[in-house]
Amino acid sequence: MAYMDSEADLAGVVGHEIGHVTARHAAQRATSQQNAGLGVFAASVLGAVLESQGLPGAGQLAGQVSQTVAAGYVASYGRDQELQADGLGAEYLSRIHYDPRNMIDVITVLKNQERFAADQAKEEGRPAPAQGNWLASHPSNDQRMQTITQLASQYKGQGNYVDEGRARYLKVIQRMTFGDSAEQGLVRGRNFYHGPLGFALTAPQGWGIQNDADQLSVVNAAHDAAMVVRVVPAQAGTTHTEILRNVLKPTQGSTQPAVINGLQATRFTGARKNAQGQVQTLEATVVSGPEARNYLLLLSAKDAPTLQRARTQLQEAEGSFRALSAQDRSAARPWVLKAVPYPKGGFTELARTSPIANPEKQLRLINGYYGGGEPKVGELVKVIEGM
Ligand SMILES: [Zn+2]
Repeated sequence: MAYMDSEADLAGVVGHEIGHVTARHAAQRATSQQNAGLGVFAASVLGAVLESQGLPGAGQLAGQVSQTVAAGYVASYGRDQELQADGLGAEYLSRIHYDPRNMIDVITVLKNQERFAADQAKEEGRPAPAQGNWLASHPSNDQRMQTITQLASQYKGQGNYVDEGRARYLKVIQRMTFGDSAEQGLVRGRNFYHGPLGFALTAPQGWGIQNDADQLSVVNAAHDAAMVVRVVPAQAGTTHTEILRNVLKPTQGSTQPAVINGLQATRFTGARKNAQGQVQTLEATVVSGPEARNYLLLLSAKDAPTLQRARTQLQEAEGSFRALSAQDRSAARPWVLKAVPYPKGGFTELARTSPIANPEKQLRLINGYYGGGEPKVGELVKVIEGM
């Protein structure tokens, strides 16, 4: 919603989704889902890493990841379905007296997000993220744009169009959270803050933080080593030894008491047998975190040599686990959207007070000026602020 600019844009997105329903795309998809067969795709690299470690729960978790990935694939509509949904979206817009050309705005937003992601990757020396036509089942945004422009022109001049509802829309999205929410934890640069759970950690230089529903991972650039953080369920035990025994089910190993930023911890090094009966090494730490919650920090990598190479950084990540300090708490506030009059100093001026990374480009992106151009001075534009 932050990237939309009016009620009519939002209506275009909703119209596209309704189009999938009315054209019965899901029913067609159910058949292809049976044919695709779940689990044929490898899990995310991280899932594969966990799986190779053969950790109890991790195998299941990797299975879940793999299913999600596979389901994500079959759940995505085919390219013809997407193009048809765009067309239906445009038709519905015209039927409720919005200009169907708003569908073009919506596709432009998608195209610009793709460009922004590619530009970012280039600046950071990373390979460009997968394009919109991933797995060749998806139409490219360029193709969608071409098709929708043709379609929208068919409706041209049909309309006594109603107001696109820009002012109302900008009013409604005021104070809306932009990006990570406090409830789920915020990634800010190399830091992660979780207000409700009361902990923070910092990724080593060049590493990333991946915040999923059931676990947090600090992952290296090659995506073959990670520290995985999970909240230990209460039923897993009360003492660290009990937790390690119940959660990891090791066949052998030793523990060592430790203190991480004032928090009591127990380090474990050992081994277990995986489902195939192979012995695998395990390295994990249980920490008594804030609010009487225990955390399992699992050091894992693709194989033993990778783990050895990443050890210093993995230990650095582990050593950064901490209860939120006052400073962390103030950094842990989400960003919010606001609408302000466009100043004479332009996006450059607005960027100066914005807390986000690459603020000028991001502000251009959310306001529909990524490709260039300027709003009129005094016209309302969206900005992102700290709370
Ligand atoms: Zn769609």
